[in-house]
Amino acid sequence: MSEKTIFKKIIDKEIPAKIVYEDDLCLAFQDVSPQAPTHVLVIPKTTSLKSLDDVDESNQALIGHIFLVIQRLARELGIAEEGYRVVSNCGKNACQTVPHLHFHLLGGRGFAWPPG
Ligand code: AMP
Repeated sequence: MSEKTIFKKIIDKEIPAKIVYEDDLCLAFQDVSPQAPTHVLVIPKTTSLKSLDDVDESNQALIGHIFLVIQRLARELGIAEEGYRVVSNCGKNACQTVPHLHFHLLGGRGFAWPPG
């Protein structure tokens, strides 16, 4: 069995995190190195998805659920009105560092486009 990722350890409550939302399917917590005044990570609880590239039709409901959670969190965290960004780094070129599917919810400041 492969070693647990840092995110799996957070799911299993083996290491602390500032959790802002949790249900049976997903978990949301503050990023430890925030890149914006609001920076939350939303992750599925399943360990079967290392990145967006692993997602297929069987995960459609899960991904839809996660995006509704993201929308709800953006509203609850007070960033929906001004606008926010959702990012999923996928693989080496996108600088993904944790091999567990995750979505960054960023807000509270303006963002440049194109991204770096
Ligand atoms: P990525 O580069 O897209 O793989 O993003 C991984 C994110 O996880 C980074 O923004 C890190 O700051 C964040 N991160 C790593 N370890 C932790 C942790 N223990 N608690 C919260 N966020 C973390």
